[in-house]
Amino acid sequence: MQILTKITEIQAACKQLRIENKSIALVPTMGFLHEGHLSLIRLAKKEADIVVVTRFVNPAQFAPGEDLDAYPNDAEHDYKVTKEAGADLLFEPLSSSMYGENHATWVEVPEMAKFLCGKTRPTHFRGVCTVVTKLFNIIAPDVAVFGEKDWQQITLIRRMVQDLNIPVRIVGGALIREDDGLAMSSRNAYLTKEERSLAPHIRKALLLLDEKVKAGEKSASVLTDIFQKYIAKNIPMASIDYMSVVHPDSLESVENIEDKTLIAVAVNVGKARLLDNILL
Ligand code: AMP
Repeated sequence: MQILTKITEIQAACKQLRIENKSIALVPTMGFLHEGHLSLIRLAKKEADIVVVTRFVNPAQFAPGEDLDAYPNDAEHDYKVTKEAGADLLFEPLSSSMYGENHATWVEVPEMAKFLCGKTRPTHFRGVCTVVTKLFNIIAPDVAVFGEKDWQQITLIRRMVQDLNIPVRIVGGALIREDDGLAMSSRNAYLTKEERSLAPHIRKALLLLDEKVKAGEKSASVLTDIFQKYIAKNIPMASIDYMSVVHPDSLESVENIEDKTLIAVAVNVGKARLLDNILL
């Protein structure tokens, strides 16, 4: 596996691959890789001849006061596991090369960015869409793989790709969990031992809601109430950022559960903001 840091180098490498008629799959990450990321690399491997992984903590998607400076990092570990998972190229640009001093262009999907995470992180998806567009322009992949853990993110990216006619196929990878059900996340590293032992209750709460729906419950407000009470009882130090019952494609809230409904949550536990979701 080749590790490249310069935009011109990765552009040249990808250009050469295209001349050789090789298809390219892109897996963007912020590093501190876990099984969730690796599952995407393995999936990418099935989708194209060459897998390019990017490792870039994108400052544009962090607001002032968020965890940009504290974001966990372990380069050696990432190099080892990326290679083992089958990546061919690893691109890790400097922040200064991705965002020049005069950077002034942003890509936004405001209608969809205002829901869920966008309520407390209003500039987050503008940063995500901008960096993903830049990576698409630099690498020109045939396929890009994103995790369904970040449901809103992949939904926005699908919309952006369609609206801007970006010639890339978006593939979603299933949410990968720890054995006790906690959704894998680089931010789980922020949890204390006690917080880590209670965090799987987020998944348990979602499974409880799924059971309620299967037993006939149709009301989003009743489900919200059950979720809030369950979390208050089982993770006393948690604060719920949001628990939203939405249409999985439009992300608009629904009051009555229909065939295709998504429950998405973000729960702050100590220093970690934990996301999870369940498709009912
Ligand atoms: P991140 O490094 O957190 O920006 O994530 C990079 C990619 O990995 C994104 O497409 C995420 O949705 C995906 N991802 C992160 N955690 C998981 C997980 N537990 N299961 C599946 N995909 C994940």
